[in-house]
Amino acid sequence: MTAKRVTFKLNGVTLEAPEGQLVIEAAKAAGVEIPHYCYHPALGNPGNCRLCVVEVAGAPKPMVSCRTQVREGLEVYTDSEPARRAQASSLELHLVNHPLDCPVCDQSGECGLQDYYMKFGRYDSQVREAKEHKRKRLEIGPHVMLDQERCVLCTRCTRFTEKITKTSELGIFGRGHKEFVDLAPGQRLDNAYSGNTVDLCPVGALTDKDFRFKVRVWYLDQTPSICADCSRGCNVSLHTNTKRPWHDEGRRLARVKPRHNPEVNQWWLCDEGRYGFKKFDEDRLGRVMRLIPYRRELAWETALDELASELRRELEALGPEGLAVVASGALSNEDWAAFKAFFVDALGCKRFLFAPQPDQLGIEDDLLRRKEKVPNLEGGKALGFGSAVASLSWERLEADLEAGKIWGLYLIERDAARFWGAKASALLSKPRLVVWQGPWKGRTGELAHFRLPATAHIEEDGHFTNFEGRIQAYQKALEPLGQARPDWSIFEGLRQRLGAAQKAAR
Ligand code: SF4
Ligand code: SF4
Repeated sequence: MTAKRVTFKLNGVTLEAPEGQLVIEAAKAAGVEIPHYCYHPALGNPGNCRLCVVEVAGAPKPMVSCRTQVREGLEVYTDSEPARRAQASSLELHLVNHPLDCPVCDQSGECGLQDYYMKFGRYDSQVREAKEHKRKRLEIGPHVMLDQERCVLCTRCTRFTEKITKTSELGIFGRGHKEFVDLAPGQRLDNAYSGNTVDLCPVGALTDKDFRFKVRVWYLDQTPSICADCSRGCNVSLHTNTKRPWHDEGRRLARVKPRHNPEVNQWWLCDEGRYGFKKFDEDRLGRVMRLIPYRRELAWETALDELASELRRELEALGPEGLAVVASGALSNEDWAAFKAFFVDALGCKRFLFAPQPDQLGIEDDLLRRKEKVPNLEGGKALGFGSAVASLSWERLEADLEAGKIWGLYLIERDAARFWGAKASALLSKPRLVVWQGPWKGRTGELAHFRLPATAHIEEDGHFTNFEGRIQAYQKALEPLGQARPDWSIFEGLRQRLGAAQKAAR
């Protein structure tokens, strides 16, 4: 049932909102920011930080806006003198024991205490007593560090582990000014979503082990993207550092943060997706190579000419039945379209294998993670590359290779050699032509005739279709490494060459 809409006044302006909506949310919808720490739409409104206090006409004292509901005729002031005074004194209480170590704190530049002090605080401190000291630099899990002194006891992190992951590793202990956040006895913050606690922490109490002390946040650029580590397609923001040299040589991505999408990932990311980005700088293919009959680097034009002419020769001699194509769902929708135009329409290829290798399926859960660890099998299915078109299984491919039925094997990002282990060299020595295409070297990349470097999705614009059929765009955050180019442009380059040759032959 849709809530009845009522009129109320915010800072003297008459507005409409659903009856019963929290004032803090109604104000946000109207573009008015009310400072807050403990309130979070997914985690509830305990009202313990007292920072979102506002003046309500007729009320004897300031009210917390995360627990006050909109009703007909309500009159709220967020920026009146009494409201400002109440917010500033709440803020001062939060800072009584805070160490104020901003120059060495990683949260600096995106800290709720710093920001709110400048916007809503700006008081002269009346506190003269010594600060309460608590424990610092605690490694509480594989990804998260805790500084108890910086904590404002908002309980967002503890509520996240209670309500969202239901793992309850964190709790608030002690009483009064000696209260502190800590691990529950015998626990570690090692659930599959632990990095979200860092996003939720409004101050520098929880920081990211991987990101701390790497770069100041104001040097980072942000690019909207999609996580490609499973078929959920969580919305992410890629933070890149191109303005300051890195201490970690070769690292181009600073961190990955979630983008709120209520339909896909809400506010969250799993740790696998959040911390998996180092692969974009590891074991990458940068050069176009011909490895067999002898090893040499090639310009793209030469490689495409040579490969197109070998494909044409074998197709004319042996037909398309002996060409097998193995592809992963890492291709974008744009790549899939070019894939179809090349392999199906131009080459007449009929033997495809899209299934992941059995050891590539991962863990699935009720929150976000999906078993299929590639982003876009659905984009291929939409073009007809579903299981009906996949005429090969891994067992059948192996058997056909051994029987010499396959003259050409074109592998796109499925590292068959790693899966085949000790048998890989023998199996891949059977076809006359083996092509390895993708962003990473993989083991297959060492055994192929041609090695074609493709861009990773963070280096191009494109679209993925997630497991629910939702088409989502991603943008280029970084320049391609070396000679890498998008998969679609490689397929298109080959298709044009084969098409031109076919026309000339007619
Ligand atoms: S560690 Fe951060 S999120 Fe957790 S209670 Fe303290 S301030 Fe809140
Ligand atoms: S659930 Fe999947 S898409 Fe989302 S962050 Fe994790 S790996 Fe990435």
